[in-house]
Amino acid sequence: MKVSAFATLAPRGALLPYSYEAADLGPHDVEIEISHCGICHSDLHLIDDDWKISAYPLVPGHEIVGTVTGIGDSVDHLELEQRVGVGWQRSACLVCRPCLYGHENLCAHKQATCVGHRGGFASRIRVDSRFAFALPKGLDSARAAPLLCGGVTVYAPLRRHGVDATSAVGVIGIGGLGHMAILFLRAMGAEITAFSASADKREEALRMGAAHFVCSTDAREIRAHAGSLDLVLSTVPARLDWISYLQTLRPNGVLCLVASPPGIMQIPPDALLGQRSICFSEIGGRATIAEMLRCADQHGIAPQVETRPMAEVNAALSRLRQNQVRYRMVLENR
Ligand code: NAP
Ligand code: ZN
Repeated sequence: MKVSAFATLAPRGALLPYSYEAADLGPHDVEIEISHCGICHSDLHLIDDDWKISAYPLVPGHEIVGTVTGIGDSVDHLELEQRVGVGWQRSACLVCRPCLYGHENLCAHKQATCVGHRGGFASRIRVDSRFAFALPKGLDSARAAPLLCGGVTVYAPLRRHGVDATSAVGVIGIGGLGHMAILFLRAMGAEITAFSASADKREEALRMGAAHFVCSTDAREIRAHAGSLDLVLSTVPARLDWISYLQTLRPNGVLCLVASPPGIMQIPPDALLGQRSICFSEIGGRATIAEMLRCADQHGIAPQVETRPMAEVNAALSRLRQNQVRYRMVLENR
């Protein structure tokens, strides 16, 4: 089967029309006709080879929604025509200790949807059906797509760190992930503080559910929130004033990164006094993805998206590079 896609041939290159012959459908695989694919900032990191893991030609795209058009012989939990979503991860060994404990995202043999495989900026994809998730009927396809990577990436640490209606949580960077964090936090009843370098996001962040908006370019504004937060989630892939953010934490508070800042984080150990800690969080396991989709459906969580035809992928990527997207770009096969 021939797949029409968009690929970049070299680091930082434009995306060009590209077609390839899909691998045979394995017994556990499904074939999906893609209707929507979100653009995550990780797609830009891959296009630019920021992480030195990209393989070219590179077909990005890992926030995929579509309908099942082919089913392997051993697949019995999905049906033809069913609407499904696929995120960052396309497979895992399913038998190692992390997999057995529901942490397939931490499997040593995990494979990513668009690293060494062709991703979702395409007409179709064939993937392991055990990483294709049935979508609740109530979720609109364009708004569901960003949940598959960005949504679970922010939802998982909120659950892991026990966020509830008594929690005060900060979100640094109000982009794709950051705005979805606000939407989930509002559903959990937490008091939300948004830290953003874009003053023009203030009104929307408050409307989405933030109680406080802090201009993150002003260290004094950040420090004015010292000792007030249980958890701070950083979605910004840049060096930040980590010491000021650690100071915003209450005792036992956690600074959780989901984005990798370049270089080395220099933290004096006494910035962690009060049993404060720093950690990283990576997407989420299959159970967490399924739970997150149910939570989004039950609470009417609808990411704010801009949609563009797939053929306008370069213009869409350019808006993301310039931090102009409000708040997630989603490509559509129209
Ligand atoms: P995004 O939509 O571009 O949002 C990032 C936000 O961070 C921007 O809107 C901006 O918010 C702020 N920002 C400030 N300085 C920045 C800079 N130098 N570069 C980029 N953003 C900057 O990106 P996203 O899709 O939310 O992804 C955010 C990060 O999470 C990416 O690095 C991505 O690779 C990573 N990620 C990690 C996982 C995981 O499993 N850990 C999963 C998905 C994505 P303000 O305008 O409010 O300041
Ligand atoms: Zn992603």
